[in-house]
Amino acid sequence: MQKVISLIEKSGIPFTTNTPLHSYTTWKIGGPCDLMVFPRSVEEASECIRIFNTAGIPWMIIGKGSNMLVSDDGFHGAILRLSGALDTVSFRDDGVIAGAGFSLITLSLQAAKYGFTGLEFASGIPGTVGGAVCMNAGAHGSDISKTLSLALVRHPYLLLR
Ligand SMILES: Cc1cc2nc3c(=O)[nH]c(=O)nc-3n(C[C@H](O)[C@H](O)[C@H](O)COP(=O)(O)OP(=O)(O)OC[C@H]3O[C@@H](n4cnc5c(N)ncnc54)[C@H](O)[C@@H]3O)c2cc1C
Repeated sequence: MQKVISLIEKSGIPFTTNTPLHSYTTWKIGGPCDLMVFPRSVEEASECIRIFNTAGIPWMIIGKGSNMLVSDDGFHGAILRLSGALDTVSFRDDGVIAGAGFSLITLSLQAAKYGFTGLEFASGIPGTVGGAVCMNAGAHGSDISKTLSLALVRHPYLLLR
């Protein structure tokens, strides 16, 4: 892990170590994770994933932590936190392209404002777009699978229509 931390430090990507996960979950529970990174761009997120995979350490992505129950033992590995990052959005004629870290509630409200239908169900779900896709978040008889056109996995951006 120390080697991974050194590589992340060299890359200039913001990070913390021994990070209490209760500060990053809605239910305010969870012990520490060894390393948490806060990529500011797709390139930085990709670089983190490359470093983690090369080192062979366990890693995971979290959004707003609104659907996570974390053990007091924490997580022994690295966490990429996307909430507050990768949070761009662009409205086009054929749909919306949203970053995985974008707030689902904000996306739902903005989609309505721009005249797009389909995301009304999401206006009360307090997660990120990426978390919603991972969980197939849903409510009121609809869910993300009914609106998602394309998820670009290598570049964590999502196209919703
Ligand atoms: C008050 C309240 C109301 C809620 N109402 C609803 C509801 O009506 N319907 C509903 O479906 N859910 C609901 N939820 C649950 C939760 O908000 C959703 O599941 C939400 O989509 C989770 O998003 P998140 O960003 O918080 O994900 P997190 O909790 O951070 O992560 C959840 C899972 O997704 C994975 N993940 C997160 N982001 C990514 C990513 N970018 N790429 C890959 N994997 C990722 C994580 O590893 C984890 O396994 C509610 C929660 C609360 C607290």
